[in-house]
Amino acid sequence: MNIHPSVTIKRVVEAVERSHQLLDNPGFCVQCGEDAEGVEPDARSYECEACGEPGVYGAEELLIMMAA
Ligand SMILES: [Zn+2]
Repeated sequence: MNIHPSVTIKRVVEAVERSHQLLDNPGFCVQCGEDAEGVEPDARSYECEACGEPGVYGAEELLIMMAA
């Protein structure tokens, strides 16, 4: 799977940490690299509000994918 180069493991880790502290639900679009909010942690292939592609993944899900 291709992940947009702006979606770095550092950004994803920071988002996961933030979600644990603030109880928000961050995600990222792997197609265009936009941040997304209100994404379930295990979301996969949700439609991106910025680019319209099904590229939004929950931060925790993405971290698991990137670490694999
Ligand atoms: Zn997008």
